[in-house]
Amino acid sequence: MAREDYEIVIGLEVHAELSTKTKIFCSCSNEFGAEPNTHVCPVCMGMPGALPVLNEKVVEYAVKAGLATNCEIARESKNDRKNYFYPDTPKSYQISQFDKPLCENGFVEIEEENGQKKKIGITRIHIEDDAGKLNHNEFGGGSLIDLNRAGVPLIETVSEPDIRSSKEAENYLKKLKSIFEYIEVSDCKMQEGSFRADVNVSVRKKGAKEFGTRTEMKNMSSFRSIVRAIEYEADRQIDVIEEGGKIEQETLRWDDVSGKTFSMRDKEDAQDYRYFPDPDLVAIKLSEEYIEKIKNNLPELPESRKARYIEEFQLSEKDSNLLTASKHLSNLFEEAEKNCKNAKAVANWLLSDVSRILNEKEMEADQIPFTAEQLAKMITLIEKGTISSAIGKKVMMELFENPKDPEEIIKEKGWLQISDEGAIKEVVQKILKANPQSIADFKAGKDRALGFLVGQAMKETKGKANPQMLNKMFIEELKK
Ligand code: ADP
Ligand code: ZN
Ligand code: MG
Repeated sequence: MAREDYEIVIGLEVHAELSTKTKIFCSCSNEFGAEPNTHVCPVCMGMPGALPVLNEKVVEYAVKAGLATNCEIARESKNDRKNYFYPDTPKSYQISQFDKPLCENGFVEIEEENGQKKKIGITRIHIEDDAGKLNHNEFGGGSLIDLNRAGVPLIETVSEPDIRSSKEAENYLKKLKSIFEYIEVSDCKMQEGSFRADVNVSVRKKGAKEFGTRTEMKNMSSFRSIVRAIEYEADRQIDVIEEGGKIEQETLRWDDVSGKTFSMRDKEDAQDYRYFPDPDLVAIKLSEEYIEKIKNNLPELPESRKARYIEEFQLSEKDSNLLTASKHLSNLFEEAEKNCKNAKAVANWLLSDVSRILNEKEMEADQIPFTAEQLAKMITLIEKGTISSAIGKKVMMELFENPKDPEEIIKEKGWLQISDEGAIKEVVQKILKANPQSIADFKAGKDRALGFLVGQAMKETKGKANPQMLNKMFIEELKK
C-alpha cells in the first residue's frame, strides 16, 4: 500500500508556563532569566517538611484558559502527586492533577486548507508545577542544576486525537497559542520554553475504525520542528507496518540536525506514577460567582476580532486571520487604523513589508520597535504624496533600525518627494536624451517603453520623483 492509503492521527499535549508574578506553591518570583538558583526557597527546592500553598492566580488563569477554549469548569478539583525520579525534580514527584482536572471537554476551532472550519477537541486542561533545569556542562563534564524553574506554574492542555496532518497540528498550536496570548495567561515564548508540546503520532489505514499504536515526542518548541517530526515519524511508522512490523508505544526524541527520531524509553503507564491526592493541599472548590466573574471579564478573542475585521474593514478572511494570529500585531493594526483611517493600507504594510522584515530578522511581532502612530504617519505621508511608496519602503526599514517620527526621517534623509514641475521636467528631458531608442519604440506603439522611461527617471531621482507627474510629463513630451 502507498502512503496515501494511510491516515495520520495526532494528539497534542501542550505545556504553557503561566505568567503569574509568583510560583505555583510558594512566593518565589516567577520571572524568567534570573541568575541560577536565586528564585528558590525550601518549598520549590523540595525540602522535606516544607508546605506548599496553592497560588490562587494559577487557578484563575487556568479557568480563563478553560473558558476561552470552551471547556466545562470543574466546581471541585484537586492536586495529585505524580511520582517519578529525575534529577531536575527535587521532590521526586510532580504536583499535577490526575482524575479531577480543572477544565474538561472543550474545543478549539481551526481553519483547514480548503477554508472549512474544524473543531479540535480538548480533553482537559490541568495545572501542575514545572521541573528545574539541568545544564549539561561541557567543560567540567558534569551537570549543573538550576531550580529557578522548579515550581513555575504550568497549564497542560491535552487535545483529543482529532488532528489529521502536520498542517492541522501547526494550525491548532498557533490557534491555542494566540488564545493564551489574548487572555494573557502566558507569554507563550517558544524560544524560552514557555509554550511547548508533546506530540503523539500514529497511523492507520484509511477507513480503519481503531487507532494505531502511537509514539510520543516530548518537549518540542518550534513549529518547524514539529511539522518535520510528524512527517518523518508518520513515514517511519508506515514503513514499519508495510514491512510487516509492529509499532512499539514509546517515547522518542526528535533530532533537528539529522531530521530523525530516536528511541528514548518505553512509554510508562499512569500506574507507574502511582498517583495519589497530595495530602498537603486542600481541594479546589469554585463558586458559580467566581467562574461567572472570570467569564465576564474575558477579553475579545481572536475569532471575534477576525469576524470584526472582515465586517468592519472589508479585509479578506486570510488577511484577518494573519493579523489576529498575534495579539500584538492585531493591536498595532487597530491603533494605526484609528490614526490614519486606512485599514487596507495598514494591513498591507503589516502583512507584506513588516512581516517580511520580521522574518528576515527572525523577530516576533511583539518585538516590532516602532509605534502605531509612526506607522500611521508614514501611511498618511504616502497618501498626501509627500513621499512615494518606494520611499515608504525605505522609511519602513528605517523605522526598524532607528524608530522615530517618519516626517523627521524624511527630512533628515532628504527623501521628500519631488513634485516640483520644473525639477520633474529636467529629469524627464535628461532621461529622454539618454534613451532615443525608447522614444522610437514608443512612437512605434510599444507602450512598454513608457514604463521603462519612468523607471529610469525613478532611478535617477532615487525613488523621489512623483510617479504620476513623471508619467504625465513623459507622455506630453513623447507626443510632441
Ligand atoms: P499520556 O501521554 O499522559 O499517557 P493520554 O493517554 O491521555 O496521555 O494521551 C496523550 C495524548 O495522546 C492525547 O493528546 C491524545 O489525544 C493522544 N493520543 C492518544 N491515542 C493516540 C493515538 N492512537 N494516536 C495519536 N495520538 C493519540
Ligand atoms: Zn520557592
Ligand atoms: Mg503524554
